[in-house]
Amino acid sequence: MGFLPKSSEFILAHAAIFALIAVPPLAAQAQNAPTDAPKQDTHGIVVANLDTSVKPGDDFNEYANGGWIKRMEIPPDRGNIGVFTALADLSNKRTVGLIEEAAKANAPVGSNTGKIAALYNSYMNESLIETKGLTPLRPHLDSIAAIHNKRELARALGQTLRSDVDALNNTNFHTSNLFGLWVAPGFNDSERYAPYLLQGGLELPDREYYVAAGDGMRDIRAKYQTHVSTILKLAGYSDTDARAQRIVELEGAIAEKHISLADNEDVHKANNTWTKADFTAKAPGLDWGEYFRGAGLSKQASFIVWQPSAFTGESALVASTSLDTWKDWLAFHLIEDYANVLPKALANEHFDFYGKILSGTPEQRPRWQIGVGIVDGLLGDAVGQIYVQRYFPPEAKAAAQAMVANIISAFRKRIEALSWMDATTKAEAQAKLTTLYVGIGYPDTWRDYSAYEVKADDIFGNIWRSGLFDYSHDVARIGLPIDRKEWSMTPQTVNAVNLPLQNALNFPAAILQPPFFDPQAPAAANYGAIGSVIGHEISHTFDTEGSAFDSKGRVRNWWTSADLAHFNAATAKLAAQYDTYKPFPDLSVNGKQTLAENIADVAGLSAAYDGYHDSLANKAAPAQDGFTGDQQFFIAFGQNWGRKAREAAARQQVMTDPHAPAQFRADTVRNIDPWYSAFNVQPGEKLYLAPPDRVRIW
Ligand SMILES: [Zn+2]
Repeated sequence: MGFLPKSSEFILAHAAIFALIAVPPLAAQAQNAPTDAPKQDTHGIVVANLDTSVKPGDDFNEYANGGWIKRMEIPPDRGNIGVFTALADLSNKRTVGLIEEAAKANAPVGSNTGKIAALYNSYMNESLIETKGLTPLRPHLDSIAAIHNKRELARALGQTLRSDVDALNNTNFHTSNLFGLWVAPGFNDSERYAPYLLQGGLELPDREYYVAAGDGMRDIRAKYQTHVSTILKLAGYSDTDARAQRIVELEGAIAEKHISLADNEDVHKANNTWTKADFTAKAPGLDWGEYFRGAGLSKQASFIVWQPSAFTGESALVASTSLDTWKDWLAFHLIEDYANVLPKALANEHFDFYGKILSGTPEQRPRWQIGVGIVDGLLGDAVGQIYVQRYFPPEAKAAAQAMVANIISAFRKRIEALSWMDATTKAEAQAKLTTLYVGIGYPDTWRDYSAYEVKADDIFGNIWRSGLFDYSHDVARIGLPIDRKEWSMTPQTVNAVNLPLQNALNFPAAILQPPFFDPQAPAAANYGAIGSVIGHEISHTFDTEGSAFDSKGRVRNWWTSADLAHFNAATAKLAAQYDTYKPFPDLSVNGKQTLAENIADVAGLSAAYDGYHDSLANKAAPAQDGFTGDQQFFIAFGQNWGRKAREAAARQQVMTDPHAPAQFRADTVRNIDPWYSAFNVQPGEKLYLAPPDRVRIW
């Protein structure tokens, strides 16, 4: 799971690839960004962002970020801004520049740069897209029309299978195809890649859109049905109202069979190995032999089925729903999933529904920005390779690696010193640290795009072939030894991620930049800012999430029940602490919902502090701008959380996100003893906690 909340705009995504199109793309955000990019002439904490009129012990977030909060305004096309978004803007500006350069470079066809150019230009050629109309889809629509029976339907459904879901790394549980494939280290044999099958079949973002009560959701469903009809009409179909009604009814029935997002996130419910025979026995209805033949998976003996009940339910619907309805559903899904690269009438209708109605975004982003988003999505490693050559020098990588080593050794000492953890559990925790792969900046090996054909005059084909390219790549490696050093984020992404099945962490180059990380900044600032992020991700390796996966990445609970009981008691105190936070008078932070992330914040900050002091090697820390080393460390941590959000966006985050709102993440410091001495925090100040009330977990 990533370090940062998913953007609320994510909800717009309705298919993995089209997330890049429907969501305002990276570049779009760069264009409209407030220009508060980190200054290059100062290194370390940003004094201008402080509000020193506030006592650190009363409101540490205001103290660390008050100056910044006063200066910044949220632009009209955004729900929030923060230090992270400013950094994302910088990264995006650079990415845009690289893609535009590539587009003008006349690079050889077939080279990575040539592919970047061809993909970008194919999307920008609007007049060609208008001229072609629905021609690129025609062969596919003809095949759907030619389906004569449920056996052929099963094969056609199998042909739609793509590797477009990801249950644990970049967590995406949505595919509009009937099912989705995820190829990842096996739950039971983590040395080899295994095929996971996930529920699918919906165009709207989640089952809740189909089943939830309330006028708002009912209204969205009615508008969705009108939208389905309009899309079919624009594509030349007759009887579109009746077809739309049947399609939406079928999706509603599929949604009834889906399990909820919360249940999806429970790996213990997901570890279900089904042989070929199990599919027919446990999920009758769909002709599974034909389905797997269509998917090119006839030889695969077994799969891990993430949501067995959904497979049973969806398969039964294939039998009980009419062939014509399924054919309409297939045709509509194809057109809908590609509407953004079809003529304007279809693209606009698509935006009117997904942009305006589902997300309240009034305006479509400029076309070039969407084009950059597509390239960044489909050729992410090709762009990333150029990105790191230009913006991530080897010295930065080496300095970050040294920090990671110090923080890992801090964790080792902390685990060894724990009084509550059983010796065998400690040994497994240390083993997890030994095998942990920490990727810094970019992967050791880059994705090879040579089998991906990109044509400058064929945006539909480019996206279609990208889906097949990814699918063949993933299917081909089922059963092969895993590459634990493989990355799941591109270097130009401002985020960090823990990959539990690989026992690996990725810290992309784009987050290893000022203000989080600056090789020229004092160690205090680097450990406080990026060091605490690194510590946060490492701690997930050992928490309730990490306790489900052992040092080899296998699903195995390696904690004793006594360890777990102690952990739960200690962390209940932290949950209670966060329950007291009220971002609005009528809304409290949910301590339970945010617990895992809050534990990681406390643990990460503690380990980063130890790592910082180790790095000083008993020398006194240099002061800067009148701040001691420890003060700089904590201020740098607090400045990670400079953020402003609109009320609606802030409320949505409190209700739906596993991360606490930024201002309370800054207050993590109140659990750390050295913070009290650094700022002389005294009883009576608002954040003061008596020593027994400070939560120590690791
Ligand atoms: Zn986290």
